[in-house]
Amino acid sequence: MSKYKAPSYHKDEFNCPRCEVRSPQKWYKIYRPKSDDTPIMNKVVSTPGSFTGQTLHGSWSVDISICQFCSEYSLWEKGVLLYPFQTELPDAHPDMPNEVKGIYEEATKVFKHSPRAAAALLRLAIETMIPLIEEYEIEKAKLNTMIGILVQKGIPDHIQQGLDTIRIYGNEGIHPGEIVLNDDEEIVFYMFELINDMIEELISRKTKIRKAYAKIPADKIKGILNRDRNSKPKD
Ligand SMILES: [Zn+2]
Repeated sequence: MSKYKAPSYHKDEFNCPRCEVRSPQKWYKIYRPKSDDTPIMNKVVSTPGSFTGQTLHGSWSVDISICQFCSEYSLWEKGVLLYPFQTELPDAHPDMPNEVKGIYEEATKVFKHSPRAAAALLRLAIETMIPLIEEYEIEKAKLNTMIGILVQKGIPDHIQQGLDTIRIYGNEGIHPGEIVLNDDEEIVFYMFELINDMIEELISRKTKIRKAYAKIPADKIKGILNRDRNSKPKD
């Protein structure tokens, strides 16, 4: 298998953002020439290996690379890949409920253009997630209230802190100047990891332990129950 080569502007070969196969790319430029009323012109300016780097006269231009394996196009502007949108954000946790996953994926799509919008969506994602955790039987309410109930039900401190971090950073009502998320993509990037950690802690880990525990033979369970009954402090 050939080594992965990230998509790169005007390169003859890379892993296609569409099919992910490392394959030759043909480059095209679409541009609107200056002082020319003709509609958008479409002209081949480059084929693999022959791009000269010449600048075309035009008030604007975009480039298209066409994958020679899948024949799909990718769209570039000023040397940056615009479409398909590529992100290094983590994938949604496999145990993330579907309703939550839809919101999470929407957040990954807007992240590049507006970290603040992504943070607000992640907040909505945990707001949607909490009532879905069967274990805690929490009715839909304000996020702050629901986290408070989880705390009463004994969630560990670090989970409360994770949930509150997403709640606060994702709050659209934050006063201007308090937290400038559009200047701090790193925090929002971390929020994506954090929400996956919350799923792991609140849903996956418990399910895994429960499944393993359910396989313990009945007589052993009886022994465990006896032990705990006997070890309870006496009044
Ligand atoms: Zn391709």
